[in-house]
Amino acid sequence: MATSVPPHPSQLIEEISELRTRHKAVILAHNYELAEVQDIADFTGDSLELSRRAAVVEAEVIVFCGVHFMAETAAILAPGRTVLLPVAEAGCPMADMITPEELLAFQADHPGAVTVTYVNSTAEIKALSDLCCTSANARAVVESIPVDRTILFVPDRHLGEWVTRGMDRQVVFWPGFCPVHQRILPEDIARKRGQFPDALVMVHPECDLAVCESADFVESTGGMLRRIADLPHGTKLILGTEVGMINRLQTARPDLVMIPAGPDLVCANMKMTRLVHVRDALLHLRHRITVNPAIADRARGAIERMLAIP
Ligand code: SF4
Repeated sequence: MATSVPPHPSQLIEEISELRTRHKAVILAHNYELAEVQDIADFTGDSLELSRRAAVVEAEVIVFCGVHFMAETAAILAPGRTVLLPVAEAGCPMADMITPEELLAFQADHPGAVTVTYVNSTAEIKALSDLCCTSANARAVVESIPVDRTILFVPDRHLGEWVTRGMDRQVVFWPGFCPVHQRILPEDIARKRGQFPDALVMVHPECDLAVCESADFVESTGGMLRRIADLPHGTKLILGTEVGMINRLQTARPDLVMIPAGPDLVCANMKMTRLVHVRDALLHLRHRITVNPAIADRARGAIERMLAIP
């Protein structure tokens, strides 16, 4: 039986270019995507940056190279556009750690509480929330809530614990987590510091609180890019984040020494998308991500209330 030969990358890139023009499409890729995908994207960034970009681009078709909740957020913020997720199975384990039924029960157990939801969540969860937040603005979002109100922070316990540390607030955390960032242990940081005593440590706030507390910098993805801009030539950095982001940082500052905090800091879902999937998404206009309009309206409200916070 004849086996089909996979298309050569250069052929795929040519086909993607032709299809992108034909469909007036834009390709967005998350920082954690494979380099081959980031290289052909029109824009790369974190999930909210890309969704905001989706809301303002002129394109009729948006190919969102990331995971499901990100394409949903783009569909919420860019109603009327065709949003495609190249790999339908690319999901986020953290976003799936809370269901609408679980959130409703959580809220029923805490009447009067304000629900703050990390953007790494499904549209249905956002729709049941008062406010969304990102890893960059979570503290400002919490500070915008009157001090006498209890806060329910979902779904990422670690981000919630980090941004509310030292605050005299009543906060109840949903026990969700990012399996990639949770993999980094305080012992990993201590070991790396032993190996590289002159290195600085920078981690993402999805890491465990003890890891964050042991770091020199705790930064969102955008914050990491800003932070490295001013570091002296040759600075060594131990990084507690996904490997795709480490590659992005290294590309931005090739003169710095980037040291992953641990082995295997790979989000398998973010690595599912290959060039062939992007080509097929454009060829067949699949997999279309739609959000029920009533849910999208409520979810958009939670995002817009976040964006209104200075
Ligand atoms: S890195 Fe973590 S939070 Fe991001 S998509 Fe993967 S599992 Fe979800």
